[in-house]
Amino acid sequence: MSTLRFHAVKKSLKYKPILFKQKKRLSDLFGENVFNEKTMRQYLTKNAFNGVMNAIQFGKKIDRNIADQVASSMRDWSLSKGVTHYTHWFQPLTGTTAEKHDAFFEVVDGGMAIEKFGGNQLIQQEPDASSFPNGGIRNTFEARGYTAWDPTSPAFIYGTTLCIPTIFVSYTGEALDYKTPLLRALQAVDYNATAICKYFDKNVKKVTSSLGWEQEYFLIDKLIAVSRPDIVLTGRTLLGHSAAKGQQLDDHYFGSIPNRALNFMRELEHECILLGIPIKTRHNEVAPNQFELASIYEEANLSVDHNALLMDIMGRVASRHNFKVLLHEKPFAGINGSGKHNNWSLATDTGINLLAPGKTPMSNLQFLTFFINTIKAVHTHEALLRAAVASASNDHRLGANEAPTSIISVFIGEQLTKVLEELEGVTKGKLSPKEKTELKLNVIGKIPDVLLDNTDRNRTSPFAFTGNKFEFRTVGSLANCGNPMMVLNTIVAKQLKDFKIAVDSLINKKDLKKDEAVFNVLREYIKSLKPILFEGNNYGNTWEQEAKKRGLSNNKSTPEALKSKISKASISLFEEMNVMSEIETKARYEIEVEAYIKHIQIESRVLGDIARNHIIPTAVKYQNILVTNVKGLKDIFGNNYNNVAKEQILLIEDISSHIEGINAKVTEMINARKTANNITNIEKKASSYCGKVKPLFNAIRYHCDKLELLVDDEIWPLTKYREILFTR
Ligand code: ADP
Ligand code: MG
Repeated sequence: MSTLRFHAVKKSLKYKPILFKQKKRLSDLFGENVFNEKTMRQYLTKNAFNGVMNAIQFGKKIDRNIADQVASSMRDWSLSKGVTHYTHWFQPLTGTTAEKHDAFFEVVDGGMAIEKFGGNQLIQQEPDASSFPNGGIRNTFEARGYTAWDPTSPAFIYGTTLCIPTIFVSYTGEALDYKTPLLRALQAVDYNATAICKYFDKNVKKVTSSLGWEQEYFLIDKLIAVSRPDIVLTGRTLLGHSAAKGQQLDDHYFGSIPNRALNFMRELEHECILLGIPIKTRHNEVAPNQFELASIYEEANLSVDHNALLMDIMGRVASRHNFKVLLHEKPFAGINGSGKHNNWSLATDTGINLLAPGKTPMSNLQFLTFFINTIKAVHTHEALLRAAVASASNDHRLGANEAPTSIISVFIGEQLTKVLEELEGVTKGKLSPKEKTELKLNVIGKIPDVLLDNTDRNRTSPFAFTGNKFEFRTVGSLANCGNPMMVLNTIVAKQLKDFKIAVDSLINKKDLKKDEAVFNVLREYIKSLKPILFEGNNYGNTWEQEAKKRGLSNNKSTPEALKSKISKASISLFEEMNVMSEIETKARYEIEVEAYIKHIQIESRVLGDIARNHIIPTAVKYQNILVTNVKGLKDIFGNNYNNVAKEQILLIEDISSHIEGINAKVTEMINARKTANNITNIEKKASSYCGKVKPLFNAIRYHCDKLELLVDDEIWPLTKYREILFTR
């Protein structure tokens, strides 16, 4: 093993970056490998084109005849680009993307071969993917899952394969993926937001949800990554003493991007651009070897697909540059982890961003309506929103004073705080003409269309309003955005539905004017929102106590957090909004709890193995060297050897005590695992893994990391933090 360490470091130093040559302008390449609107216009008949556009814009069904036409055009387009295979591309609940390639090639009667791809193959496939997690929805004897075409996300070519974005559902129609419930949530938010927009503008026919993600990641040398069994098997380091230098100098943040990384990024961006993924910014992040890449926002379903695709491509491109991308939320102790901010908003088909203040009092009232309803939704469902980002890996990041805590709160900035205060004072019931004018001119009329103070934003808030969108910051870097986006859009949809009922009732029963009714409901909402609004430092110690007083939940671990997913309220929420049935909600919960158990189990096994089979033998080896040394000194100095061998003897003792510590704790951990494995109830099993197995990681790590400081560097088997993070 130790040879692997030295080999890795030496090789990585000698590595010559592959220069990536960009031949064309990015704007010319954008979407070249996507069956997008431009390509469809070229390849489809007018009839087929309209059919697809109607499906994209209004969710209309595509009939068979049109599907056949689309399929054959897709095939022609693909063949013209050297494509040989096609696949239904989907996002099972494993968190990665899945595909099964089939050739276009088919042998027909008479021994002739043709390239065939019809409506049948486009619309539906049965990938026999019975091994994907399904939370007990599919019995194995009926283990059929179907993939079905999602025309709202365009097909694309990757390599020599035509990829068709699809949903993945069971034989009986239950969702087995991230996309299906997301599409339903987007429909719910469209329906309910459009109804509200009609208070302000009758022309609005559709509201779309937008997402712009910011993906953080680490980039490390591939050989160095391979030299660490923990990185290979778990995506993070389970042990390793901090390097003398970490991120304290802040010399990496926004610094010049190292050449080798830059070449990787350029090729990655090139691939993204061909696939229509609108990559916009790249920069160094806070920790050494940490970077960020952000997209321009798009319709949420497409943006989720693009992020899932990006995570896949990142790995492939990195490999060509001898890098490994670490998407884990906390690959290294002691330095920052990675997240994925989800910037979210709603926009109308008339081109209005509903979370951007407008130029007139009326448009500002519309803005405030959506703004306040979003906050209200987050408040009502704060625990569910926390659950939407829960995972074994994200647990390391939330609450570590580098990322938002596990407490959900909303930051809105000084200006809007004032606006809400003033709105709260509005008279109840009917307003006099004077009051109305006053309100329009001095309260909502005063909101500037650019909210300047939001540029000076609170970076510690998990859910921050940033001028024209909300930024959900607790999402983990490894996560599929589909899950948090599904929850956020569902809770907002539900809140808007309730809002409409309240407003309509005031209009009908109390005979209020539309705007008076809106003011009245918003005023009552504002009064109830105090506990979720927090402008202070979310990283500070006092916030935790304060949040407790306010009645906000603070679920620090995944098993705790996930419970709110199957609360009565959550189950009926998803049912009411037609996003998930009770069976689907429960199945998803089960899958996530099981995933948690498996992750901790794997980490525990890997850690036990490294500690016993790599660290202890190395410590013993070094101790033997010391023993030989002490014996030699005794030969020379006789009974006085104690004076000269004092330190060595202390070291020998020290090493023994750490070896003992490791052994005892590993044994304890194995026993804790056995106990946990015998529990059949998965919820209790997860708690046991979380409360009994996982806490031993740190104890074991402590002794291993101490030994790293004692043992001769020459024989230390694991590549060290300084080598992983600073070899260039
Ligand atoms: P910063 O966070 O540095 O201020 P920006 O405000 O430009 O950067 O945007 C950050 C992210 O927010 C980008 O991905 C951007 O596309 C996205 N974004 C901007 N406007 C919206 C919107 N209306 N809906 C969703 N995302 C948006
Ligand atoms: Mg940001």
